[in-house]
Amino acid sequence: MSISVELNRITKAFDTTVAVNDISLMIAPGELFFLLGPSGCGKSTLLRVLAGFYRPDTGELRFDDKVMNDVPPHQRNTGMVFQNYALWPHMTVAENIEYGLRLRKLDKLTRQEKITGALEMVQMVEYHDRPVNTLSGGQQQRIALARALVIEPSVLLLDEPLSNLDAALRQNLRDEIKDIHNRTQITTLYVTHDQVEAISMADRMAIMKDGVFVQVGTPREIYQYPADPFVASFVGETNFITGNIQEIANGKAKIETPVGVLHTESVYHDFTPGQEVSCSIRPETIHLNGNSPLNQLTAKVGAVTYLGRVEEYELRIADTLKLKAIIHNPGTETKKPGDTVGISMSPKAIVPLPTNE
Ligand code: ATP
Repeated sequence: MSISVELNRITKAFDTTVAVNDISLMIAPGELFFLLGPSGCGKSTLLRVLAGFYRPDTGELRFDDKVMNDVPPHQRNTGMVFQNYALWPHMTVAENIEYGLRLRKLDKLTRQEKITGALEMVQMVEYHDRPVNTLSGGQQQRIALARALVIEPSVLLLDEPLSNLDAALRQNLRDEIKDIHNRTQITTLYVTHDQVEAISMADRMAIMKDGVFVQVGTPREIYQYPADPFVASFVGETNFITGNIQEIANGKAKIETPVGVLHTESVYHDFTPGQEVSCSIRPETIHLNGNSPLNQLTAKVGAVTYLGRVEEYELRIADTLKLKAIIHNPGTETKKPGDTVGISMSPKAIVPLPTNE
C-alpha cells in the first residue's frame, strides 16, 4: 500500500541561511515527485527532512496521517539512494543488500529470497557474490537501488542518483527507475538539477529556488505555462524579448518591444497596460521563412549547427537581440552565416511572463 507524504509549512535554517523556507506540499500515494532547482536551492535539505536526518525548525511532516517530526530515521521505513552510491566497499553485493534486512531481524531464508528479488529488480542477479568495489559506477548505483528497495520502503528518496554516470548510462537507468517505480508504486521523492531527468520521469515536479517552490506541476504544465522567466529558462531552453503591454483582452495581447509589436494569444497571467513583461519564445517555435501574418521579423543568421535530427540557428535581429531557433528534421537546404532571413512566430508561441521589477 502506497502512502502519502505531506509537508505543512516546513522551514529549516542553518544559522542565517534559510535552506527550506515555509514549504507546503502534498505528494500523493505512489507518486514519482521531483525536486528540481539550481545548486544550493535547498533540495537536499528538504530530502533530508523527509529522511529524518534533519528535524524541521517549524512545520509538520506526515506520512499518511502520522506526524513524523520526531520519528528517528531508522524508524521511518524510507529507502535512500545517494549520488555517490554510499555502499560498503569491503562487502559483497549480497552483504550490502542484506544489511537492512539483518537490522529488521529477518531469518536467513527470507533474507536470501528478498536479496534475490531485489537483484532481479535491478537485473544484477549474477553479481550476488562480487565485492562492490569491483563494480562499475552504473552497477554500483543499481546495487544501491536494490539495497534501498529490498526493505520495501514506504517512501523512496533519491538524491541525484544518476549525476555521477555518463550520458548513455543515465538514460538507461532513468528508464529502469521509471519501470521499477511503475511496478512497485512506492511514493518517491527524487532530487535532481537535471531538467531532462525531471521532465522525462516525473509525475509532478517542484521548481525550487532560494528555499521556496516557484512552481509545482506536471512536466507539461511547467514547460508550457512557466510561472516566471526563471522557470521558463530552467526547464527547457528559451529566448526572451522584453517589452511592455500595449493592449490586453481575452487572453490576447499586443506587446511593444524594441524589435516591433508582438502579438500573443498565450496570456495566462494578470497584466495591465504599460506593464513590463518578458516574452518567452521557445527555439523550436521560431520558423524560418514562416508565413504567419503576425510576428514577422528580419534576422541575420549567425552560427549554424547541424545536429542531424535538428539544426540550430543563432539569429541576430537589429544588432541588439540574439535569438536561438531550432529546426526539426532539417533538409539539405541550409542557411549560411551572414544570410538574411525572414522569421515568424505564431501568437500562441509568444508567452509573456512577469518580470521581477
Ligand atoms: P546541491 O544541488 O548543490 O546539492 P541543494 O539544492 O541540495 O544543492 P542544499 O544542500 O539543501 O542545496 O543547501 C541549501 C542551502 O543550505 C545552501 O546555502 C547550503 O550552503 C546550506 N546548507 C546545507 N546544509 C548545511 C549545513 N549542514 N550547515 C550549514 N549550511 C548548510
